[in-house]
Amino acid sequence: MQKKWTALVCAGVLAFSVGHCVPCLSATAETVEQGESKTIQTESNQANPEQAEELNSENSESVRIFKIARVLSAQNGISEAVMNAIYQEAVNARNEASKHYGGTDTDSVNQRDALRHFAWNYLCVKGGIAAETMRIFTANFEWADVLYKEGYRVSINSDEDIINRKNQLEAQCASSCATYWATFMPQANQYLADKSHAMDWLNNQTGRQYAVSHSTSSVKFAFDTARNNGDIIINWASDITGMQAHSIWTTNLWYTSTSNYPRTFSWRRESVDDSNHNLICNGCGVSELRNHNIRYTDLGTSTHKKYCLECSYSLIEAHKPISIPSGSKCSNCGRTDLIIISPNKNEDEIMELLNSLKQEAEG
Ligand SMILES: [Zn+2]
Ligand SMILES: [Zn+2]
Ligand SMILES: [Zn+2]
Repeated sequence: MQKKWTALVCAGVLAFSVGHCVPCLSATAETVEQGESKTIQTESNQANPEQAEELNSENSESVRIFKIARVLSAQNGISEAVMNAIYQEAVNARNEASKHYGGTDTDSVNQRDALRHFAWNYLCVKGGIAAETMRIFTANFEWADVLYKEGYRVSINSDEDIINRKNQLEAQCASSCATYWATFMPQANQYLADKSHAMDWLNNQTGRQYAVSHSTSSVKFAFDTARNNGDIIINWASDITGMQAHSIWTTNLWYTSTSNYPRTFSWRRESVDDSNHNLICNGCGVSELRNHNIRYTDLGTSTHKKYCLECSYSLIEAHKPISIPSGSKCSNCGRTDLIIISPNKNEDEIMELLNSLKQEAEG
């Protein structure tokens, strides 16, 4: 128990760098096979000490995570030879990303991560690895990250343990968006949770797609094109919404089993105030604030009903007159033959008049 707790605490500390480190490997495929203590430096690691340190700390984790991904992917029928090629392209993608975005600020780290994932998938598919194989391997890579944060290690746990845990988690996530959310997104399980998984899945997918649609480009040109087209996620914290996460939940970007689980979810909308309602998942309770979709219905010469097309919000209120050449009209519902409440009536008289008009309208 003591040991497990220590592992979880460590995982929590490492969460951020792991979430952004995916194919950032500088060791060779042989190193992955041989053990996790060995890390080979590449020339790009020596560029500046700060960056080298960051890449090194990412590397040793990435190498460990890659080992877990290999165990999972072998289970899915991906051969050692193909996984070696995938590994080599991960190294190439990491080098390409570091070449263009070498900074240590958050924006550079995010851009580097986005290019890494895009390039990894782009280079593999362009190099002849089936897109479906890459989908499964890269899904397993994110699973490996989750397992790693739970304390799983190839050197400690048996392959069978690792595979069983992943299959168990995958089945649980498939049957419940609440579990999926808690496993991959920021909610209760903060140490496991990281929206950057969703960013990685989407950028991986875009890389595979552009390898087909933009196969004559250089990888960086293809990336810039994808980015200009709005197909790249850079800021996972702000760009991945709960709605988007649920859309991803219904896809196989994260899902590798051949069994089909029904993945349906439903939303309800609850009014918050005159401007907004909450969009709330009935399964997990994740909510997002959205503007009402406001419409007006003319209820007579004095009032209109303001209501939301999507939720139960409604309000009967006096017209909002604005001057037009022929007199006045309601700026909301457009009615022109308005009864304007005299400005010299006192507040009680106005309320009384409004109430009687409301009753008339409601009746
Ligand atoms: Zn949900
Ligand atoms: Zn509404
Ligand atoms: Zn009106």
